[in-house]
Amino acid sequence: VATPAALFGARANSKGTEFGDRRALASLLRARDGAKVSGLTADPASGLDAAAPAEIRSPVDGAVVGHSRFLTAQGATALVERAKAGVRAAEAVPAATRAAQLRRAADLMEERQGTILALLTREGGKTLDDGIAELREAVDFCRFYAAEAERMLIHPVPLPGPTGEENRLVYRSRGVAVCISPWNFPLAIFIGQVAAALAGGNVVIAKPAPQTPLIAKLAVDLLHEAGFARDVLHFAPGGGECGAALTAHPATALVAFTGSTDTAFAINRALAARNAPIAPLIAETGGLNAMIVDATALPEQVADDVVRSAFRSAGQRCSALRLLFVQADVADRMLRMIEGSARELHVGDPAELETDVGPVIDAAQLAMLNAHMTDMKRTQKVRFTGETGPALPEGGHWFAPAIIELDRAEAMTREIFGPVLHVIRWKAGELGKVCDAIEATGFGLTLGVHSRIDETIDFVKERLTVGNVYVNRNMIGAVVGSQPFGGSGLSGTGPKAGGPNYLARFVREQVISTNT
Ligand code: GLU
Repeated sequence: VATPAALFGARANSKGTEFGDRRALASLLRARDGAKVSGLTADPASGLDAAAPAEIRSPVDGAVVGHSRFLTAQGATALVERAKAGVRAAEAVPAATRAAQLRRAADLMEERQGTILALLTREGGKTLDDGIAELREAVDFCRFYAAEAERMLIHPVPLPGPTGEENRLVYRSRGVAVCISPWNFPLAIFIGQVAAALAGGNVVIAKPAPQTPLIAKLAVDLLHEAGFARDVLHFAPGGGECGAALTAHPATALVAFTGSTDTAFAINRALAARNAPIAPLIAETGGLNAMIVDATALPEQVADDVVRSAFRSAGQRCSALRLLFVQADVADRMLRMIEGSARELHVGDPAELETDVGPVIDAAQLAMLNAHMTDMKRTQKVRFTGETGPALPEGGHWFAPAIIELDRAEAMTREIFGPVLHVIRWKAGELGKVCDAIEATGFGLTLGVHSRIDETIDFVKERLTVGNVYVNRNMIGAVVGSQPFGGSGLSGTGPKAGGPNYLARFVREQVISTNT
């Protein structure tokens, strides 16, 4: 197993860039304020068919942050052809060199943290805390996969055999890897997929979400500057049309995707329909994540962890808490504390230090959330809605945290991606039923459990097929190398990002048996 994440964090801190440190934060803010993040462009390489420049608007106030020319289907197809021509050259770069390039990219991200943070707040709507955590995660991903490449890819693995026979397992690149990432971690997930694919010696086509191409372009520029050749790493801004053409192309040898479950199904179907080599799909999708709280849990801690898990990042994390199961005996007290804590949240401009909850990403997400609330008001009990306040920037996509009490868990069947918490009461003796309800969602990403009874904790973690179980703590913010992240069922295929098995999926195994 590669070096634990704490070490990667320590390395990041050793350069005087300790995130969270007040002085470092102050200098980060100065750097951010001085950084120019308007008038940016995120265009594909020349010679590829692309649409007219689309405006990329900030979710904070609707101002134009930059422009991006999205690849058409024809442009995306031509890009895969172009990428295919670079496969041999990419494979010829030694794994040790690729690892060094990833480390250089990590260093560059630390150096440019002001600009990166500015873009994360403007384009991504990230609060400062979330922006800093995301930057750090991106840095960790680069260093982690660099270490993984050195661990796995440099030396052949000797395998047993009879006298006179030598067996060796080696890992080779797969060829063209298409990486498709979401807007909710426009830097960390974007660069995490790409870093693993590059570490594996593949030619990489990196498609960001259409909402956040500018930060992705910055990451691609930085990886080029770190040494990855232009014919090894290609930038593919675009929407569904671009993604569909990339995955349908017969030369695409691997797809890494993070986003909605429906899109993962569509990619699976597209890959299956090709008359081409069978290409693996690594999908990390959504969740209808639950937390189970029993009567022995510590109320103050529960309140803090629930609010953090459900509302931080405006609930726009796959890992976020959606369904809170509270034991009935303590439910009123717990809910009073949770609501009290939620009332303290400051919804506002993510660039302000006091902001806890920024905007949601775009008008479509806002409309979906408003429609959900209208629907819930009709059939369920809305317990709490926060304030958005009069001073919010106009043109932003503001949605205040909400808490809804459901009469039964089955009232929720799909992931609602935003700051809405749904609460269900359960009675002593019903833990099995609670687990059945969670299993019935079909998702299996994160699970929280708050209890001081070991048997309860053991029961739920063994019973539920979830990827990440968080005991007596919050359930977001998985740390690279310490909490490899990802689930199963409707939540994805695995392997877990930031874990010891991730890089293995980006390479091809070859065994060489020699008669000596
Ligand atoms: N890894 C993130 C976390 O643990 C969530 C990633 C996602 O939202 O896709 O909170």
